[in-house]
Amino acid sequence: MKPDLFEAPDYYNIDDLLTEEHKLIRDAARAWVKRDVSPIIEEAAQKAEFPKSIIPGLAEIGAFGPYIPTEYGGAGLDQISYGLIMQEIERGDSGVRSTASVQSSLVMYPIWKYGNEAQRKKYLPKLATGEWMGSFGLTEPDHGSNPAGMVTNFKDKGDHYLLNGAKLWISNSPFCDVAVVWAKNEEGRIHGLIVERGMEGFSTPETHNKWSLRASATGELIFQDVKVPKENLLPNKSGLGAPLGCLDSARYGIAWGAIGAAMDCYDTALRYSKERIQFGKPIGAFQLQQKKLAEMITEITKAQLLSLRLGQLKNEDKATSAQISMAKRNNVEIAIKIAREARQMLGGMGITGEYSIMRHSMNLESVITYEGTHDIHLLITGLDVTGFNAFK
Ligand SMILES: Cc1cc2nc3c(=O)[nH]c(=O)nc-3n(C[C@H](O)[C@H](O)[C@H](O)COP(=O)(O)OP(=O)(O)OC[C@H]3O[C@@H](n4cnc5c(N)ncnc54)[C@H](O)[C@@H]3O)c2cc1C
Repeated sequence: MKPDLFEAPDYYNIDDLLTEEHKLIRDAARAWVKRDVSPIIEEAAQKAEFPKSIIPGLAEIGAFGPYIPTEYGGAGLDQISYGLIMQEIERGDSGVRSTASVQSSLVMYPIWKYGNEAQRKKYLPKLATGEWMGSFGLTEPDHGSNPAGMVTNFKDKGDHYLLNGAKLWISNSPFCDVAVVWAKNEEGRIHGLIVERGMEGFSTPETHNKWSLRASATGELIFQDVKVPKENLLPNKSGLGAPLGCLDSARYGIAWGAIGAAMDCYDTALRYSKERIQFGKPIGAFQLQQKKLAEMITEITKAQLLSLRLGQLKNEDKATSAQISMAKRNNVEIAIKIAREARQMLGGMGITGEYSIMRHSMNLESVITYEGTHDIHLLITGLDVTGFNAFK
């Protein structure tokens, strides 16, 4: 792979709207990605392996629990810092950002928000350092966009719960130490349970042959009469709103992360357009190529402003789920379009692993599907503005 020469576009001087702390955190994450992710990520993706060697680095830049209070080992940062960290990581690779998103928003967040003090103290510090890695089990083979229909269930057996069912498409599952699993009790109410590796009847087979997020490990969570101690139930929230609250936090991070992937594709294409000579001129001097670049930077700038405003609302605890849906949907869509256009600008070179664009493009095919598909987020916006539910 070519050396990482990334220079972040900031067409509207958005840096002026960030605090010194935001910039320090962002720059530290950026430098770490350049030093520790860019040199190894292409090979990891080619081999379809999650590069576990980067776990301590992810913890060091604050990617595991950026906004979790420091008393539990988190970084204690605001929501804009969280977003900026996700942006920088996804600039390197969406798969690596997925691992960080799951750990922070889908595992640490529910334990912090819905767990009790003993659960927070037991799990959060180890998750913050990466000593323990987590996964989040919501999706099932027959219930993706409609998680309310889940069939995974647990029964009260007096001194423990008995968990049965299966989750599919679970990021980090093949190597997770703990899984936050959503299952129905005997009354059909959804609860979160913390399942630990080693519990009898719990297995995590890997899903192979993905052409997307190849540097992220995906798999199943299978529960066959797993005895889960009663103290592992998250006591402070139940119902579908509990997992959806986690998804709000993760989708917010994705909205920022997608900008990172888009910025990397734009920056690569811009540099290439100045160097690649055809018909005696740099290709960047042709109007058709300028149109692509001009549209890319316009969309990136709009996405940056959308995310920053959403971050301000999140900091004030005012961001609605529908606002988060809009940002996730928009930013992933512009990123995938930018990746496709940038790929074309590199001609044949664009399909090789010498450059990051094809990898981003393939990764974004997952990002546009997980955490609510592109269409589902549109329906959320539609419901929000009209009041009519078009889901069913
Ligand atoms: C790489 C990867 C990692 C993932 N990681 C996790 C994870 O860590 N944890 C987890 O729980 N899940 C995870 N997922 C699952 C992901 O969230 C689901 O794939 C996603 O929610 C879509 O579900 P589905 O694949 O079953 O598609 P389906 O729900 O079957 O949807 C198929 C199509 O139908 C459309 N559709 C569905 N319902 C409607 C409707 N009412 N109106 C109009 N169109 C509709 C969808 O938009 C989509 O285009 C991951 C997925 C991938 C690919």
